[in-house]
Parts: sequence; C-alpha cells; structure tokens
Amino acid sequence: MSQIIVQESTAKKRKPSRPEELGFGKIFTDHMLVMDYESGAGWGDARIMPYGPFELDPGCSVLHYSQTIFEGLKCYRRADGGLQLFRPSENFRRMNMSARRMCMPEIDEALALESLKALLRLDAEWAPAWPATLYVRPAMMAMDADLGVHDSGGYRYFVILSPSGAYFSKGFAPVSIYVEDAFVRAIAGGVGHTKTGGNYAASMLAGRKASEKGYAQVLWLDGKEHRFIEEVGAMNMFFLMKEGLVTPPLGGSILGGITRESVMIMAKEMGYPVIERRLAIDEVFDAAERGDVLEAFGTGTAAVVAPVGELKWGERSVMFSGGAVGRLTRMLYDELVGIQTGALPDVRGWAEPV
Ligand SMILES: *Cc1c(COP(=O)(O)O)cnc(C)c1O
Repeated sequence: MSQIIVQESTAKKRKPSRPEELGFGKIFTDHMLVMDYESGAGWGDARIMPYGPFELDPGCSVLHYSQTIFEGLKCYRRADGGLQLFRPSENFRRMNMSARRMCMPEIDEALALESLKALLRLDAEWAPAWPATLYVRPAMMAMDADLGVHDSGGYRYFVILSPSGAYFSKGFAPVSIYVEDAFVRAIAGGVGHTKTGGNYAASMLAGRKASEKGYAQVLWLDGKEHRFIEEVGAMNMFFLMKEGLVTPPLGGSILGGITRESVMIMAKEMGYPVIERRLAIDEVFDAAERGDVLEAFGTGTAAVVAPVGELKWGERSVMFSGGAVGRLTRMLYDELVGIQTGALPDVRGWAEPV
C-alpha cells in the first residue's frame, strides 16, 4: 500500500478490559484513515493517522445541508485469534451507490478495502472477542465552506473503528417494536435506499416517541399510504408466514441490507420459499392474530438477526413465537454468526480475512 502514509500514534489509549465497558459505538481506537478529494485532482493524500478531531469551517456545507454518507460493518475475531470481515466489498459498492445519489465522488473499492485492512492490522489489538466486535464506520462528507445549496468541490473520506458490544442491550432476545403510523422515514424517489445522515436525523423524533412508550425500535410504514411495512431503524424485516419467508421488496425507500440479502440466500438453501412482496401492516396483524405468522425478525450488521417479540400498532399488539426466539430465526442467526466468526465453513466466499 505505497500510496497510504502511516503516521503511528505515540500516545496509545487505554483499551477497555471488560466487555461490559464497551456499549455500542462509544469507544474509538488509536488510529483512523483519512483521504481527501478535490475536484480536478480526485482522491489523494490517503493516510492512517492518530485518531482525533477534525477542524471544520463553520460554513462547511456538510454542517448545513448534510451532504454526507456512511457505511457500517464489523471486524470479527475468530477462535484462532485471526480477524475477518463479512462481505466488505458489498459495503463499498453500496457506499458508491449512496455517493452517486448524493452527488458525491465515488471511491476506488479495491483501495477502500486494502486501506481498511491496513488500518485494522494496525489497531488489531482493539478487536474484542465475540460476541463483541470491532465496528467499522466508513464515512464521507462535503468539505467546502460555502452556504450555496449545491454539491461540494472538496470531500473527506474517513474510517473509524469502535470496539462494541451487542447492539441491543439484552443480546439475542426478542425486541419490542413500535409501528409508526404518522411520521415516515422515506419515500420512493427520495434517499431512503442510501445511508445518508439525514435519513437518521429525520427518524429521531419517532425513535424518542417509541422509546418513551417502552419500545426499542420503530417500524416504518410506506410514505404514501402509511400502510405497507418498510423496515426498522437499522434493520430489514422478515415474517415467516404460511407461504414462506416474506420480506418487503427494495423499492427505493428501503435500505438494501447486506444481511437481508445473505439471510434470503441462507433461508432458500434451508428449503424455505423466500418471497419479496408488499406486506400491509393490517395483513400482518390479522394473520398474526390467527396464528399464521410463525416468526418475525429483523436483520442488520449491528443487530445481526434480531427476533421480534411484540409489535405495537395503535391500540393493537401482537406477539410472535409466544415471545420466544423462533426456530428459523435461531437457525439463521447461528449460521450467519458461524460464518462471520469463522466457526462454520465459509462455502459461499463471504468471509474476508484481514
Ligand atoms: C444499515 C441499514 C440496514 C442494514 O443493512 P446491513 O447491510 O444489513 O447492515 C437496514 N436498514 C437501514 C435503514 C440501515 O441504515
């Protein structure tokens, strides 16, 4: 990696010694990767440097108009001590899709992967043992100090690493989810299919409302009729119904999860029909009340495969799998985690050694 300059930190930070200290995304390692883009010159100045704050002009356009994108993946420690990633090229491909939609420059996917590995090797000691992981957060933002509403000339790409515990505090236990029927997250034609900051800023009020009612997550409905199931904050949704495993189709307003795609492939190989179709919230509640929804779960890098215990929609509430973890949910979780941590053979070529 001759084009990446490495400036090692001389003041190493204290590493958390107990997994309980971790939380999610609160602690950062000794180094970060930074690369800058200038229009005309392209990307350059790739460097691994000590982790620390950026200095931003108060007029910096990202602070005003949110021209920013990110990704999220995990670095897993295998039982033999080695480190590996799960389908990381899919993250960089999706980041470039987000970049195109947000009028930002694409990155070289091979360079992004190689530079990430270089950063991970330098901070390898920070990677905790499963079920904790080293969460990887690549991001890009507009850098011009310019209050005009247009795309920027300069951009910064950076990657930070955060040793993290399980996303949900209770671990692999059913989560309760609140169905939001007033606020919406995204609409077709918008940016719901990209990982851009504004999508998450727009979700926070509904998240707070759900949390005040005692629910861990929000289930979003479509922006037009407020009726069809879209996804949860950072998870795609699946329902095991009579016809098979049903998940909403990617119609431009839903994030195309890498975990979603992986789970669809695994479930098919386990013999379950996998159906992508629009799924109305009233249909799910009616079917669940008849006992025709056997399991419900969400999928995402952070949450892995998260069983849904209760869904709350207005005055109605339904439970899945009697509030326990369903059989298919458990099988998918075990297989996915087995591949991610190297405990199971990686027959599909999804694991990427660091
Ligand atoms: C990141 C994300 C997901 C999950 O995507 P994965 O690639 O599986 O991690 C789902 N929904 C939203 C809104 C997300 O931001």
